[in-house]
Amino acid sequence: VLSVSARPIDTASGRRGAVAVFHDITDRKRVETELRGFAGVVAHDLKAPLTLVSAYAELVAEALDDLAAGAGAPTLGQARQGTAKVLHGAARMQRLITELLDYTAARDATLRIERLSLPTLVDDVVTTRTDAPEQEPGARPDVFVGPLPEVHADPVLLRQVIDNLVGNAIKYTPPGQSPRIDITARTDEDGGVRIRIADRGIGIPDGEHAAVFDSFHRASNGAAHPGTGLGLAICRRIVERHGGRIEAAPNPGGGTIFAFTLPGAATHAPEPLRSAESQ
Ligand code: ADP
Repeated sequence: VLSVSARPIDTASGRRGAVAVFHDITDRKRVETELRGFAGVVAHDLKAPLTLVSAYAELVAEALDDLAAGAGAPTLGQARQGTAKVLHGAARMQRLITELLDYTAARDATLRIERLSLPTLVDDVVTTRTDAPEQEPGARPDVFVGPLPEVHADPVLLRQVIDNLVGNAIKYTPPGQSPRIDITARTDEDGGVRIRIADRGIGIPDGEHAAVFDSFHRASNGAAHPGTGLGLAICRRIVERHGGRIEAAPNPGGGTIFAFTLPGAATHAPEPLRSAESQ
């Protein structure tokens, strides 16, 4: 995207002319869009729970005052309900703040590329996710993991990518249906690895697959599920910083396939590796 600014000039020789300056405003537009998204998220996802938290905290305080004055029993139940709402609201805000920080960290953190066992990493993510206390027994994900190679990547950041993708596969499966996730990978001749995470969830409507990687973007069919639209933007940042690409496509069996690439060790480290001492 270009913007043009121009002004007339008179040269010393008396000739008249104009100077036109072309500015590439793609970055500025992206920052503006990001700021608008950020303002929306702060207004909606932080302000709303904060208002609830304050209101319920006040209610709890009143109930405690009543209790202290000996008027207690009928309001105690309300107080319990109030604390539950406060904790729920606080957890929502914590999640959002963590995602906002992860989004910044995905851009700024120094990459520490290591040789990693993808099977161990995937196993760790899947176990953490499937054993999560909030998982209902009937909705435990059914995860198939194919043979996975070693990769060269930053362990913390790569874990975040896989965790976001597996988490979404679970979240965007209709309630009451057990999530089905297939995780496979293949190595190219040049040592690069392509990792594929396929689900049988609600899918992404046609024409929206590319946009879901934009920050704060949520697909038109996803509103029933809580979210900020930052998870996939974090994934894209991390994958691109490794020199790879990430994309989404419809799963022919229903659902979505996310695939991302990581270059092989021989290709190059996309950024100079810094030793731990120089941090
Ligand atoms: P969030 O889930 O917090 O909204 P993400 O950036 O992780 O944010 O995802 C962006 C959007 O992409 C989601 O709001 C949802 O509409 C869509 N999406 C992501 N993963 C899936 C999936 N596995 N199945 C269907 N839709 C998905």
